[in-house]
Amino acid sequence: MARTRICLSSRPLHTIRIVRISPAMNSPPPPIPLPHVLIVEDEAKTRASVAEGFGLEGWVVHTADNGESAVALLNTATTFDLLVLDWMLPGLDGTAVLRHARARGTQTPVLMLTVRDSVQDRVAGLEAGADDYLTKP
Ligand code: CA
Repeated sequence: MARTRICLSSRPLHTIRIVRISPAMNSPPPPIPLPHVLIVEDEAKTRASVAEGFGLEGWVVHTADNGESAVALLNTATTFDLLVLDWMLPGLDGTAVLRHARARGTQTPVLMLTVRDSVQDRVAGLEAGADDYLTKP
């Protein structure tokens, strides 16, 4: 904040305050970043359905239909806010994808999506680094 005096002869007439307005005060607030979800599911109908639900909730949806594609997406610069990961995938399965993600330091919450619902399967998913586990109907 700077002050400038306006003078008539040697006497001050007014003291005015100059306020600098930063560009941020004139422009609209920055947009709130949308959350990104990566949905990894090989069954097209289930993948589309889950993707539609997240899209309707305002998420930016990324999808992969196999483990290798999921790993490739995880290796990009995109930061995912959630990973929805099917257990049974062609090639690399869900737990292998999850182990890869955790090994590279990804802290993204992971929801395992599977038809497998035995206690042993749940424990295996959680031990691989999943945060939660949802059994498909
Ligand atoms: Ca599957």
